[in-house]
Amino acid sequence: MDVINPATNEQIDRYEPDTSDDVEATLSRAQTTFQTWRNRSVREREQLLAAAGDILENRIEEYAQLMTTEMGKPITQARAEIEKCARVCEYYATHASAHLQPDGHPSPPGSSVQTVYEPLGPVLAVMPWNFPFWQVFRFAAPYLTAGNVGILKHAENVPGCAEAIAEVFDDAGYPDGAFETLLIEVDQVSDVITDDRIRAVTLTGSGPAGRAVASTAGENLKKTVLELGGSDPFIVLDDADITAAAEAGAWARTLNNGQSCIAAKRFIVHSDIYDVFLDRLRDEMISYTIGDPLDETTDVGPQARNDLCANLHSQVERSVEAGATLEIGGEPLDREGSYYPPTILTDIPVPSPAANEELFGPVAAVFEVKDENEAITTANDTEFGLGASVWTADRDRGQAVGQRIDAGCVYINQLVKSDPRVPFGGIGKSGYGRELAEAGITEFTNRKTLWVE
Ligand code: NDP
Repeated sequence: MDVINPATNEQIDRYEPDTSDDVEATLSRAQTTFQTWRNRSVREREQLLAAAGDILENRIEEYAQLMTTEMGKPITQARAEIEKCARVCEYYATHASAHLQPDGHPSPPGSSVQTVYEPLGPVLAVMPWNFPFWQVFRFAAPYLTAGNVGILKHAENVPGCAEAIAEVFDDAGYPDGAFETLLIEVDQVSDVITDDRIRAVTLTGSGPAGRAVASTAGENLKKTVLELGGSDPFIVLDDADITAAAEAGAWARTLNNGQSCIAAKRFIVHSDIYDVFLDRLRDEMISYTIGDPLDETTDVGPQARNDLCANLHSQVERSVEAGATLEIGGEPLDREGSYYPPTILTDIPVPSPAANEELFGPVAAVFEVKDENEAITTANDTEFGLGASVWTADRDRGQAVGQRIDAGCVYINQLVKSDPRVPFGGIGKSGYGRELAEAGITEFTNRKTLWVE
């Protein structure tokens, strides 16, 4: 597995994939460790997680540099990502015991009925490259603390991040086998899912990857959680603070070089303020510094891989051919590396890639609507349903609009963001299941009914 720095197109490392003997040894270790790990107290597991969080805090710079070199995220955002991982460790180190407390139920006189939360076993996690630390800690912090063990199959372009994460758990004192990584090709994943020792699977990534993993898991009657991205609407109503909305919208669209599942993707703007908003959005996106992601002043770095950059450009070209207007950007930069500039499309026909597909890069698709109802209809005119953002001076109006949007979360006057304290996940082609908060830690547990007469 060759690792290419997307900022320079240079090969920076090479990893040997695991052999079938390696895979067997990993699964066997995970299974053995689970038998003792499940019996340790939640408090002990919380303490280990707190230690993992401290290690992350102490190694922010090292891990941020690694992440930026492997996948091109601006270094300032890479540091923030490691910080956020430390926060999710802190959250579950503090709250796991409370979330896993048995729930009492009304019961006949003389009996006691409870739901108790028990771990399932080894969980396979198939993870993407876009937030190579955060996506992993988002599953590992709760699932390990609930008493499961984790096996990570990370994206092939971030093997260094995968190994660094395993190192965090090792150094924190987790037993061998509590968190393992597999360096395997995509076509080896179904054998791992099929293996009896794997009890559940979580995947973050594209629809095709989700479908492949879920269908194998389904054939084997194993539970899955899927987080598959979206085409998130960002609605700006006629009474919104236009400057605040444009600043937040431009940032949301270009954060992580535009490669975020919850990024604002379709800007749906009331016609009364459309022209002013478009001008502000354009000014904001043009003002960003594009360049070397290791440079402290860079706002937008390269796309994570050449093929992803080429696919994004093809989506833009096909949208323009279908009738969309290119306001800014729209051509890969003429320099070494997979650089795509902040881009804005307007007059977008439906159907077209900009209207119907996920644009995983810094490309804003802007739609003009005549009123609130049309804004909601346009927002819901998608097969995805991950996040949405609504901008209005009237909080009650925002809440009412939010309730009519089909998505896993809606943020009013705020960009969509994941937070350890709040459940996260989608509906429709954005996937199913919830991560984070209490919902996230109980997702892969046996919610066992215990009836005592
Ligand atoms: P993928 O969905 O292909 O990759 C995500 C993970 O799934 C990787 O670990 C990948 O492995 C693995 N994978 C891919 N196909 C299979 C399969 N058939 N069986 C088992 N595992 C599989 O995403 P890409 O990197 O190719 O990106 C393509 C598009 O996906 C993006 O443009 C974006 O639209 C979307 N995406 C969404 C993300 C999100 O946050 N929701 C994250 C990343 C991508 P490997 O790396 O070895 O191929």
